Amino acid sequence: MFRQLFGRQVFGRTRTATDWPGVLTRYPDLIDVPAQARAITLLEGNTPLIPAVTLSEELGCKLWIKYEGLNPTGSFKDRGMTAAVTQAVYSGAETIMCASTGNTAASAAAYAARAGIRCVVIVPEGKVAQGKLAGALAYGAEVVSISGSFDDGLTLVREATEKLPIALVNSINPYRLEGQTSAAYEIVDVLGSAPDWLCLPVGNAGNISAYWMGFKRYWEAGRTERLPRLLGTQAEGAAPLVKGYVIKQPETVATAIRIGSPARGEQALAAADESGGFITAVSDAAILSAWRQLATQEGIFVEPASAAGLAGLLASVEQNRIDVKGQRVVCVVTGHGLKDPQIVLDQAEPPATLEPTMAALEDYLA
Ligand SMILES: *Cc1c(COP(=O)(O)O)cnc(C)c1O
Repeated sequence: MFRQLFGRQVFGRTRTATDWPGVLTRYPDLIDVPAQARAITLLEGNTPLIPAVTLSEELGCKLWIKYEGLNPTGSFKDRGMTAAVTQAVYSGAETIMCASTGNTAASAAAYAARAGIRCVVIVPEGKVAQGKLAGALAYGAEVVSISGSFDDGLTLVREATEKLPIALVNSINPYRLEGQTSAAYEIVDVLGSAPDWLCLPVGNAGNISAYWMGFKRYWEAGRTERLPRLLGTQAEGAAPLVKGYVIKQPETVATAIRIGSPARGEQALAAADESGGFITAVSDAAILSAWRQLATQEGIFVEPASAAGLAGLLASVEQNRIDVKGQRVVCVVTGHGLKDPQIVLDQAEPPATLEPTMAALEDYLA
């Protein structure tokens, strides 16, 4: 009964600027899910587009950070998951399943809990950041760890969901991309038109594909005069789209993009190309450097993979592959820093320990 109240019906009235429910109700004409479906939502989306003051000065451009870590489960995956789970429940599914490097698992788990259905997530053993695993477990998902990679997990999930009455909610599910187009609309809504460049990390390549779909839809609807160029970034140890072949054993500190055979690879390459942009690769050191800069210079704490977009931008500018002087640039940071606390503890100096006296504190401060 209570659950019924949260259908899209309750929000089926004229909306005002201060009344933003989840992405499905915010962009009903642009996100293709059945109109009669009850929206399974946690009021995802509507994340801030934060001006990056210091980095803008350094680059001589106007740089904004789209902070996707502020979605309900701490990553952009919620935008797609609301659509995929809404559709799955509408079509009668009682179980959803995904392979995940962590964030998809946490997101699927939350939306399944919201819908009151079963959620099974397959994760690569020992390669999932703590905050993500904790999320999936907290929301009550069944977590299955496999002694293989994300790519092995996805193969398994494809097979299982073909054979059994289970809905697949990885980004090969078209509804995931539908929901994720919302981020492009939001950026245009704030800036008034698309930026010159959109920079983001690329793993399974669903997100970059969804952004391109979104910008093109807004353009076709006359809601932006221009389209952005896309700059996608992979980690050097997991860069199949840059190298042009499948990476059997992808390795990177950026676990969210530790993927050797991206399901949406072709689509992502076509999107980057069509936009006049490209997909590049950067080292883990460059990712961690950008990650540190975001936190210490802009106050934006993200998980390492999330900083890959900025790392790719900085590297491409330095290599003179692109010139962003005077341009408007958006970097999408995809997940919250608290997802991966271990990396901070590994990288940072341990805290100072002092006697609780003023003398000791003065000594320390000097
Ligand atoms: C999923 C994810 C990515 C990669 O997105 P794709 O759609 O797989 O390319 C990047 N960063 C974070 C934090 C993610 O969770």
